[in-house]
Amino acid sequence: MQFHLNGFKTGNPDIAEPSEIGKAAAHADTLPGEVDVLIVGCGPAGLTLAAQLAAFPDIKTRIVDQKPGPLQLGQADGIACRTMEMFQAFGFSERVTREGYWVNETTFWKPDDSHRDRIVRQGRVQDVEDGLSEFPHVILNQARVHEFYLNVMRNAPNRLVPDYSRRVAALAIDPAADVPGGPSHPVTVTLERIDPEHEGQTETVRARYVVGCDGARSVVRQSLGRALHGDSANQAWGVMDVLAVTEFPDIRFKSLIQSADEGSIVLIPREGGYLARIYVEMDKLSENERVAGRNITVDHLIAATQRILRPHRFDVKEVAWWSVYEIGQRLCDKFDDVPEADVATRTPRVFIAGDACHTHSPKAGQGMNVSMQDAFNLGWKLAYVLRGQCAPELLHSYSAERQTVAKELIDFDREWAALLSAPLKSAADPDGVDPAEVQKYFVQHGRYTAGTVTKYKPSKLCAEPLHQRLAEGFVVGTRFHSAPVIRLADAKAVQLGHTVEADGRWRLFAFADRGDPSAPASRIRALCDFLTGSPQSPLRKYTASRADIDSVLDVRGVFQQEHHSLSIEAMPALLLPPKGRLGLRDYEKMFCADRKSGNDIFDMRGIDRKAGCIVVVRPDQYVANILPLDGYEPLAAFFDGFMVPKN
Ligand code: FAD
Repeated sequence: MQFHLNGFKTGNPDIAEPSEIGKAAAHADTLPGEVDVLIVGCGPAGLTLAAQLAAFPDIKTRIVDQKPGPLQLGQADGIACRTMEMFQAFGFSERVTREGYWVNETTFWKPDDSHRDRIVRQGRVQDVEDGLSEFPHVILNQARVHEFYLNVMRNAPNRLVPDYSRRVAALAIDPAADVPGGPSHPVTVTLERIDPEHEGQTETVRARYVVGCDGARSVVRQSLGRALHGDSANQAWGVMDVLAVTEFPDIRFKSLIQSADEGSIVLIPREGGYLARIYVEMDKLSENERVAGRNITVDHLIAATQRILRPHRFDVKEVAWWSVYEIGQRLCDKFDDVPEADVATRTPRVFIAGDACHTHSPKAGQGMNVSMQDAFNLGWKLAYVLRGQCAPELLHSYSAERQTVAKELIDFDREWAALLSAPLKSAADPDGVDPAEVQKYFVQHGRYTAGTVTKYKPSKLCAEPLHQRLAEGFVVGTRFHSAPVIRLADAKAVQLGHTVEADGRWRLFAFADRGDPSAPASRIRALCDFLTGSPQSPLRKYTASRADIDSVLDVRGVFQQEHHSLSIEAMPALLLPPKGRLGLRDYEKMFCADRKSGNDIFDMRGIDRKAGCIVVVRPDQYVANILPLDGYEPLAAFFDGFMVPKN
């Protein structure tokens, strides 16, 4: 973590200096008449987006929710490795790692062949394969995740805090939104205040952009005339967080338990060492039936769990939270307001994210994760358009990229849920599912559920992988897979991926060839000379003249040599740039392979040692391009494809 750049400051370095927007926000009880972005919904999607936008001091964002205050209990709890990587970028992965339950192994239980009314352990697997991520798969209450995001927002320059007890009632987009000279804030949102002090009052906010993160029954989605489509396999689910005394030996392992005749449960140990979450699959619902009509109580959930866990005793001592909710695999066909036919002539003004666009079963623990990744994809794009760094056409890429991901999720969930609900193979039902198949499927899809297989298709933001062979382990379109390195300036062992913070900047990692990087003719030096000197350089074109040189594209060098053998003072000046009000040098741009531990990033990520390469990483941590170290023209052309020159 870096601080004191613009002068020494006492106190908590996590708390940024307030911006003008931040100072004004401290006194406001009513919503402003105009905002840049209005976010509807303080769930994981809305808070991720708010935390991202709060990093931009010049963007006026507000986030509203109909609830009276922050979530306290319940809902989702699974945090995939990929999500932990994103939390790292927001600065709170350590908190989650410390508080959360780590899913190290998953166990599988099936009916005992000789006593079909009893369950026995069928197998045990490592939950996350070695080396998939530097982070574990973690379980932590959604409310805690919300709290961490709220801290990030509160401490950001804009001091963003949610406006609660406000329900969005209507939304309208001015048809002249895309007409030159049309309204600057073309989306009008009507909100009802629902707290006792303001009941009956309405507010009207005009926004440049609105994002509906308002859950499965999204009013924003409905106002766009969009709907969730899916099959009619609506399923009632019971979920409870309990403190229980039991002889079931795997109570502290994530377990998939299938009984012969009583159904199945998913058991998830929870943070703190004692709590456990149990998902119980309940009744199938008919097409338009609501689960509330079934009168399912927590006693039904407990009784079903006890029957499934036989012969193990399961005495529930306290129920911390429980819920019954209906699930269908449903998906919206587009995540913004622009119909497919109008994409060439209009740009989006209203977006939907998270459960507002996709719903599915909780069996694979994806709901919160995919919702947050939607918002992380959208946040930087909105910021770049609002700041004039990219044309509004960039915003089409949000629906294009994330709808595809959601479709994959829905397809996966349908298959996985069907497998878990299917009757088990037995003498009476030889066509049933073999429990070993369930375990095999789980292992086969481990990378998917860890969130690491998302791959964006080639587009303006993710180049065709013409030079993939230069770095086989950084697959273009997938998330930047971190690896350990040694920082040159202070010999600290760090993760290279942790330099990618949620600050909206692009990263350019220059992996050097074998030669001495400080030599006058080194290819790294030539690249740095191009970046600082050439009029074609994206660094020069897209960075405002008085801004820090790394404020849009952050260039980092990674060397093959052991750190003792390199002299920092002889390195290219771009990798030791003067920054800020005082012109202080940034010493954290250069890294060396960690040869001592044997975890050499060049080997781990298949980087061509002879040629080196440039790895371009998007603000949302996805690999956008791999280029040769002297690929100046394609590098310039890549950024010219979507950025607007500043100078
Ligand atoms: P949500 O978390 O649903 O957040 C939407 C927010 O929008 C809410 O805070 C809501 O109050 C607000 N809102 C809605 N309409 C309006 C409006 N008109 N005006 C203003 N604000 C509005 N997933 C699991 O994996 N495991 C679980 O056990 C589980 N349990 C769940 C239990 C419940 C009761 C619910 C609702 C969801 C559950 N989920 C569970 C799903 C999981 O929580 C979601 O996938 C995840 O929260 C999606 O995040 P989101 O931000 O898209 O939407």
